[in-house]
Amino acid sequence: MRAEERRRRILEILAETYPDAKCELNFTTPFELLVATILSAQSTDKRVNMVTERLFAKYNTPEAFAALPYEVLEEEIKEIGLYRNKAKHIIEMSRRLLEAFDGEVPQDRDALQTLPGVGRKTANVVVSNAFGIPAIAVDTHVFRVANRLGLARGAKTPLETEKQLMRNIPRELWSAAHHWLIHHGRRVCHARNPRCGQCPLLELCPEGKRRTGAAPAAPAAVKARRSPGAGSRRTAGA
Ligand code: SF4
Repeated sequence: MRAEERRRRILEILAETYPDAKCELNFTTPFELLVATILSAQSTDKRVNMVTERLFAKYNTPEAFAALPYEVLEEEIKEIGLYRNKAKHIIEMSRRLLEAFDGEVPQDRDALQTLPGVGRKTANVVVSNAFGIPAIAVDTHVFRVANRLGLARGAKTPLETEKQLMRNIPRELWSAAHHWLIHHGRRVCHARNPRCGQCPLLELCPEGKRRTGAAPAAPAAVKARRSPGAGSRRTAGA
């Protein structure tokens, strides 16, 4: 199968498998999404949503966060990892938004990246989910799954991965593909034990074929210990 056809088929299967994939952070405004995304680094979306439900009921504007003492915000978000740094970034980001952007979250990725605590991934999440601008935010799941599937080949950095994905995926699918890859990474293509045996992409995945085909001894050994007719369903090869 040609590479282009293989990529097209991978995207079709992901779309069929995760038709409802979307941002799993809760927010009602671009500013709330920006705060939630800063909080989400090295934390789960579920934990962030628990904290922001309470937090945003009290504060949800740049003005409100800019006026907070660091200790107050630290106390509000202390259940989240790296909370001291994140409190500092959120307060300084809010002050910068007020000084330079009249308190409005910019829709431009480069402008967003001038804000404290906002890197390329966070900026991509915000432009894509708050403003509907096609973008591919590369987090740990997207990086891993894209490289395993060969959608990004041999990419060493998130930026390299993002650039390859932008070349290999039609622009109108960038934002959706970002969610598909995250969902697949969370549910099937786990970092340590990817469930290749249950993966709908196995036939198209170089890494899955390598993992399932590279361990012939294990299934054989298991089969030998089983009673005849016990079946030989292939399991994840990691
Ligand atoms: Fe991940 Fe395995 Fe599926 Fe490939 S076949 S995408 S490595 S779970």
